[in-house]
Amino acid sequence: MIRNDTIAAIATAPGNGGIGIIRISGPKTEEVMLSVFRAAGGRYPIPESHRMIYGWITDGSDTVDECMAVLMRAPRSYTREDVAELQLHGGSYVLNKTLELCLKAGARLAEAGEFTRRAFLNGRIDLSKAEAVMNLISARGAQEHKAAVRQMNGGASSFVRQISDELYTLQAGLAACIDYPEEISDEEGTGSLKQGLEKLIGRLEQSIDEHASRLIHRGLQIAIVGRPNVGKSSLLNALLGEERAIVTSIPGTTRDTVNGEMLLNGIHILLTDTAGIRETNDPVEKLGVERSVKAKTEADATLLVLDGSEPLEDNERIMIERFDGKGAVIINKTDLEPRIKEDTIHEIRPDLTCVSISAKNPESLQPLRDYLIRLADISDQLALTQPRHLDAVRRAACHLKDAYHTLELFTPDVAATDLQAAQAALGEITGDNADEKLLDRVFSGFCVGK
Ligand code: GDP
Repeated sequence: MIRNDTIAAIATAPGNGGIGIIRISGPKTEEVMLSVFRAAGGRYPIPESHRMIYGWITDGSDTVDECMAVLMRAPRSYTREDVAELQLHGGSYVLNKTLELCLKAGARLAEAGEFTRRAFLNGRIDLSKAEAVMNLISARGAQEHKAAVRQMNGGASSFVRQISDELYTLQAGLAACIDYPEEISDEEGTGSLKQGLEKLIGRLEQSIDEHASRLIHRGLQIAIVGRPNVGKSSLLNALLGEERAIVTSIPGTTRDTVNGEMLLNGIHILLTDTAGIRETNDPVEKLGVERSVKAKTEADATLLVLDGSEPLEDNERIMIERFDGKGAVIINKTDLEPRIKEDTIHEIRPDLTCVSISAKNPESLQPLRDYLIRLADISDQLALTQPRHLDAVRRAACHLKDAYHTLELFTPDVAATDLQAAQAALGEITGDNADEKLLDRVFSGFCVGK
């Protein structure tokens, strides 16, 4: 659905700020702009494109605000339509009043992401780049920001187009096998096609890095576990640098999971301080323990905290023996007389990473911080990181596998359908042939004014 009307919205975040911007896009942009904006000295009756003009927003004879206005004529604009931006003082009354005047002058209030949707529909950016704009806006750390910039610069698009071009070559080869069965033997034709398919399947599967995608879009999730009173809450607080969890010396104080978020080297890390995992009859504590088990299952890695000033308990020994997945054993309270050493842990499980700290001494946490950074280390060259893209690539690889098996049965016409389906799945990433439903899904996450 390509709309030809003119839209307007406040493009800056709500609340008071130094400057607030109203954005207008569509064929009546200039008309709307000139009906709310008066250039100083009555100059520029026809505004020059891409030139800032100083003046006022007026409502009849009343002045609403001072304004710097710029008109960007199509196609040299964000949406490839005529676009105007009115830079005002960033007060909510002023912005809402000016927006109201724009709507009265013939603009319609833009829907969420509609400016970027128009940029996509008018061929200025593909769908993966449109999504990258949103990721860039919502990036919480350097890692997320880097992935968004890579995608905005065409990382995902160029990867997909390359695969798609190679797939078209295979489709042409397959069409030749179907059209000239006398000239191309089954073995000869399907043999090279199968080889080509294998190569493409391999490249698609290699590009699917679930772990990296999760890290970028959700952050690194860490569960802090251990028996009560070993210093889990103190560790969480020390890492976050604030009093988040309640710290007392009564076992079972952290009755429920407590979450904290931090940025470490540009990486978004979510820490869950779990209730001490132990047998209990207290219903509230029981619920907390259940949540701890859940947090541990959902986490990317677990930190099993021990009180280094106490002898190792039997159930802790069992937890170390059974430790699975990513994570480390943290020996806490190293400021006290040591009863557990890293050697003790390595005698039980030589393969486990062990870090000694004192939650009471923030400086001692540096080796743990370094360990967390290493856990979140992912290639910064990944072409695909968006979950929606990974899903499409997974489906494309499945269709190619189906085509491969079909070719083994010498039914090339069925394989042709599978290759088409693979092309369609890849096309979803860049938005080629994207339907309204897919666009609605992608753009509904955008903010109004973007
Ligand atoms: P949790 O039940 O595992 O969350 O343990 P808490 O964080 O509530 O800590 C239990 C007790 O151990 C509190 O009295 C803390 O002050 C103390 N504690 C925690 N970490 C350290 C540490 O590194 N050194 C010392 N000496 N005491 C600590």
